[in-house]
Amino acid sequence: MIDSPTATLKTGPSLAWAHSFAELGGSFAVPMQATPVPAPYWVGQNLALAEQLRLPPDWTHGDSWLQALSGNAVLPGSQLLSSVYSGHQFGVWAGQLGDGRAILLGEANGQEWQLKGAGLTPFSRMGDGRAVLRSSIREFLCSEAMHGLGIPTTRALCVTGSDMPVRRETLETAAVVTRVAPSFVRFGHFEHFCHHDQHGDLKKLADYVIDRFYPECRDTARWGGNPYVALLAAVTQRTARMVAQWQSVGFCHGVMNTDNMSILGLTIDYGPFQFLDGYNPGHICNHSDHQGRYAFNKQPQVAYWNLYCLGQAMLPLIDEQEQAIAALETFKTEFPLALATAFAAKLGLPEGVEAPTTLIDQILKLLAEGAVDFTIFWRRLSHWAREQSAADQSVRDLFLDRAGFDAWIEAFSALHRAEDRAAASARMLASNPKYILRNHLGELAIRAAKQKDFGQVAAMLQVLQAPFDEHPEHEAFAGFAPDWAQSIEISCSS
Ligand code: AMP
Ligand code: MG
Repeated sequence: MIDSPTATLKTGPSLAWAHSFAELGGSFAVPMQATPVPAPYWVGQNLALAEQLRLPPDWTHGDSWLQALSGNAVLPGSQLLSSVYSGHQFGVWAGQLGDGRAILLGEANGQEWQLKGAGLTPFSRMGDGRAVLRSSIREFLCSEAMHGLGIPTTRALCVTGSDMPVRRETLETAAVVTRVAPSFVRFGHFEHFCHHDQHGDLKKLADYVIDRFYPECRDTARWGGNPYVALLAAVTQRTARMVAQWQSVGFCHGVMNTDNMSILGLTIDYGPFQFLDGYNPGHICNHSDHQGRYAFNKQPQVAYWNLYCLGQAMLPLIDEQEQAIAALETFKTEFPLALATAFAAKLGLPEGVEAPTTLIDQILKLLAEGAVDFTIFWRRLSHWAREQSAADQSVRDLFLDRAGFDAWIEAFSALHRAEDRAAASARMLASNPKYILRNHLGELAIRAAKQKDFGQVAAMLQVLQAPFDEHPEHEAFAGFAPDWAQSIEISCSS
């Protein structure tokens, strides 16, 4: 039997806690305690983020931080709580959900801190309040990979593990991820208060989000001077840009339910995600997604659908429905614009120069026809663009349709004048990553971690945090996915 976490820990003056979300009141969250785990150990530590969060340098040593970030001890000044939200799952209203296994500690150094997997909460429903080692390593590595790619995301400070058994399809072991974000408010928080006709709380929530994160929405003359319409437009813009970035690196989220959509346009809730290996626009990464609702090429549409749910939920704050629709409609210009910008960078064009859409369409078609590795193609092209040597067949070799490719590469070459090639190549190398978190890489790190070898987690973290750098010593992480990668099944189970 383990005692409830009463021990507190000295953290020094660098970590002063504030509790603005808790101050919203009892309709938003309930006070919580974490449920301790036996004999925790470190699985992964993110030193770069720890420095930004101004953790004391000795946090990685000794027992106290390990206990605190496993939910076994309380950080002084933190106020643990779990928040309530609702949402649409797979296109269907799911009713109340909430933090079923996430516990908020409060904000310190500009970020809210959450322990994910720290035990049962009033919102656990049928779940056990736990997260398994496998999914926690995936979340830890992927959120940092996304950050390294320059894509807005929640971040992960660390993972701790415990040999406590946790049942999923098979028996696994427990882990806790400490994740941080300026806010964990989701579309589903808005849907919750709208659904229950708690319009006062809905307004309180919207005002909270605007005052803290979108202050420009207060003094907008656009949108009829209504700050809530302005908020909807701003969230639409951020979401459109985020999803455009996903599409530009081949990231498939896998479970874009409205409770997994951040009001700040952050990538959140890493579950059955996958980076594409071979380019397949219809790829479904989540084995629980039988209809392919969240297939890779459906993500923009789904984001738009989810924004409509948010807009619907915000209607009590908006005088005229037409205003909300107008705000949402901006997705139709923001998304294509953001996608075109991302692809222009991938093609090495200087900022502000548009990429010819036919060139993008044609290469995506060729990549799909040949199931060509998306990341390796762009990276090889980035190197090739410098010399453009006919002797260098490394890009051409990726394609079966040689004639189709030859026509395309000629059009690509014409994009850059000979004297601009070096600069174009440099831009491409800064836009087309060498390293992504492929499914099989995550799997290798997980297998090693299950044997208590955490070196792979650390090595991958280091590479993924700087994915545009060469890291020649880690070339093995940049190769094609092996055949066995096809057999990895990723589902909602986490
Ligand atoms: P997800 O699909 O991970 O975003 O989770 C959907 C909902 O189920 C959220 O309310 C989660 O908090 C909750 N949930 C997922 N897994 C668990 C678990 N093991 N225990 C309790 N709640 C969970
Ligand atoms: Mg979720």
